[in-house]
Amino acid sequence: MKSISNIVDTDYLNELLSQTHRHPPESIHRIIEKARQKKGLTVEEVVCLVNLQDKSLLNKLFEAAALIKQEIYGERLVFFAPLYVSDYCVNDCEYCNFHIRNKTLKRRQLTLDEIAEQTAFLINQGHKRILLELGEDTNHNNIDYVVEAIKKIYSVRTPKGNIRRVNVNIASTTVENYRKLKSAGIGTYQLFQETYHHATYKKLHHGPKENYERQITAHDRAFQGGLDDVGLGVLFGLYDWRFEVLSLVSHSQYLDKTHRVGPHTISVPRICPAPTVTYQPEYPVSDDDFLKLIAILRLAVPYTGMIISTREGPEIRKLAFRIGISQASAGSVTTTGGYGTITSHPQFTIHDNRSLQDVIKDALDNNLIPSFCTACYRSGRTGERFMNLAKPGNIHKLCKPNAILTFAEYLADCTTDGLLEKGRKSIDKYLSEIEDESLQKETRARLERIKAGERDIYF
Ligand code: SAM
Ligand code: SF4
Repeated sequence: MKSISNIVDTDYLNELLSQTHRHPPESIHRIIEKARQKKGLTVEEVVCLVNLQDKSLLNKLFEAAALIKQEIYGERLVFFAPLYVSDYCVNDCEYCNFHIRNKTLKRRQLTLDEIAEQTAFLINQGHKRILLELGEDTNHNNIDYVVEAIKKIYSVRTPKGNIRRVNVNIASTTVENYRKLKSAGIGTYQLFQETYHHATYKKLHHGPKENYERQITAHDRAFQGGLDDVGLGVLFGLYDWRFEVLSLVSHSQYLDKTHRVGPHTISVPRICPAPTVTYQPEYPVSDDDFLKLIAILRLAVPYTGMIISTREGPEIRKLAFRIGISQASAGSVTTTGGYGTITSHPQFTIHDNRSLQDVIKDALDNNLIPSFCTACYRSGRTGERFMNLAKPGNIHKLCKPNAILTFAEYLADCTTDGLLEKGRKSIDKYLSEIEDESLQKETRARLERIKAGERDIYF
């Protein structure tokens, strides 16, 4: 086992942050210009950006982030929903309502039939991707249960379709267990470090999760178990966001160097209020800093998908989509078995309570194209193969037609009233923007097949 300072050298990052000399505007321009070439940034370059205060340079940073987002991801925005199947948890994370100290929570683990019901609910809203969420408890939520839950989700079919990609967010585990997740056909394995700052990590976590080393080496074990799409994240608010951004960039570079595959996604959750949680974030991140950190990550790790959840409200989500976010949850609940019922006892309180359809309407008004695409992973474009397409920005060519096709399915199967007309107009617009003529022609032909009732057609 390598030393964990190989993964993220926190002493070095602290030293970088402690250097207070100002960087001349020319060097900031040079860094932003390098990032514009989609070459990524070193941590030494990122530190200059996290300390940036000058308004006009900050505008340049946001402009560059928006351009990179546009060049790599275009206007598309991929949607998913979390599915909480069990809130049994043996950990005592200070910020989470599922912490073991919470004796008022009537804990619940869904049966396979209940998982099928929840899945059907999400399919009928139009979802094709689920992020599976569980607390850590090897008695209740052992790996066999997780695998059965995944299989159940994939097996559900309704007249409106089925779930085509299950991403998984479970506690750090063994190589053997990751191998089982791989066999169950998961998409991305996501695990957040929560905070890369050792002392803060120690203070806020009790139970098996208190082991910092176990947490930060989880993605390595996932690779050893055969998974090749992994996601990183930090819970913003626990520690200084500037240190966390440097750490995320370091961790990404480590994965890229060691496994030849950088993170498939980076998530940027900000801490939210939660019932029974009295912990107050010591480093709350303002909206301005939140947008800044998203833009910096977009510049520093240009090939990675960036995820925002309903922890954020509609206004900030709209701004974040423009400067870097490529995936968003919508129509979510954070309660076990909470879809289709009046829910209480969520893991935390969310700030975007709109339905998927309302979020989509808003996305169309903001010139985004909603996507439910799952083509890459089902065509074997994962891990290094995916990175070889994503890094030079070539994935975009296939993503646009796939976004159009999956959005057309959504319109045909799941919309009501006003959205249909609006949606069709935006499909026409994006279709006419596909530059490759034969690809445009083939996409039109496939749209006709969808109109005729065929489903699940992708490039
Ligand atoms: N239990 C597993 C774990 O902790 O890794 C799986 C996922 S947990 C259900 C998902 C994530 O929710 C955690 O990694 C944490 O970052 C986040 N979370 C917990 N409490 C939160 C809160 N109060 N506000 C926002 N996010 C929170
Ligand atoms: Fe359990 Fe995860 Fe909540 Fe921590 S964040 S208490 S591990 S569910």
